[in-house]
Amino acid sequence: MNETMRAAVLKEYLSPLSIEEVPRPRVKGPNEVVVKIAGSGVCHTDVHVWRGEAEAVLDIKLPLILGHEPSGIVYEVGEGVPERLRPGTPVLVCASSFCGEEDEYTLTGDTQLCDKPEWPGLSWRQGAYAEYLHVPHYKYLIPASELDDLEAASLLTDAGVTAYRAVKKAADRVKPDDYVAIVGLGGVGLFALQLAKNYLHSNVIGVDVSDEKLDFAARIVKPGPQDHLINARKTSNLEDEILKATGGKGVKAVLDFVGLESEMEVYLRVLAKKGIYVVVGLGSPFGSQVPSLHLILGERSITGVLWGSCNDVRELSLLAKKGVVDYSSIVTARIRLDDVNEALEKLDRGEVLGRQVIVFK
Ligand SMILES: [Zn+2]
Repeated sequence: MNETMRAAVLKEYLSPLSIEEVPRPRVKGPNEVVVKIAGSGVCHTDVHVWRGEAEAVLDIKLPLILGHEPSGIVYEVGEGVPERLRPGTPVLVCASSFCGEEDEYTLTGDTQLCDKPEWPGLSWRQGAYAEYLHVPHYKYLIPASELDDLEAASLLTDAGVTAYRAVKKAADRVKPDDYVAIVGLGGVGLFALQLAKNYLHSNVIGVDVSDEKLDFAARIVKPGPQDHLINARKTSNLEDEILKATGGKGVKAVLDFVGLESEMEVYLRVLAKKGIYVVVGLGSPFGSQVPSLHLILGERSITGVLWGSCNDVRELSLLAKKGVVDYSSIVTARIRLDDVNEALEKLDRGEVLGRQVIVFK
């Protein structure tokens, strides 16, 4: 058995991650598992962590191995881990659900909302930009043997599940043929576009500021006559353009993966009565004023989404198996651990289409 592993370690904010040999994690307790990583997605939150911008909201301790979007193979198990998760089993890791202790949120299944999160790569707990990951309990693992692209399936545990949770928030408001606006067509937005079309059976209006990202989205979802992809920078009046696209009806849901306060007002104005605005992106934290009258007169709702629960990951993996979402198509680069700094810089510059995944052979 290997005593060490290669990992990308953040030692100092804004300095390149250090690629080095570190001790391999080991199983100590009966319910613990060590997973050999297959795919580790590079998320925009990692850019915020690397820049030192996440300290205010996360309990981060350096040095830290980043990475919170992992898939892999069970490598080592404690004596209490059930047979269905024996070594060699492909799994998705619910990084959102690592919690210090049970509380009312973990008990009701909203594991990502627990009071004492210990998210790998986003706390003191070491993450998945490494060959192996320590998982404190086998309940955070979803068997993935029926997913044929394990490297890319890592996306389901973060980008995918975040979009799925946002779409689920809108599910009881949106009828087939209603319109859903999806703002920001990065990795998460691309999952949301597919889920809005193939799971809610709604018409979609995708908005971004990059023609490349809009073209890439069009290749993935193949828009129908009722669907629209709009470049917000190239239109003189975004509000009019969205209203025109919906035949004046407005949208029943806005799934906002950018979250810029300056644009929220526009999206709230095109939100139909009984519509829901789901904020996911942290573009302007704590900035917006609540437009009470607009909410009251149309019984509109505003809500937030944080990542997704382990059960959401399980449900999404079943949808992926049925082909409702094509997660492989969102992966545009399978990179080596040594290239992770370049990947973070590209992401920071807004140059990444879809999602980059670190793969280990
Ligand atoms: Zn993330």
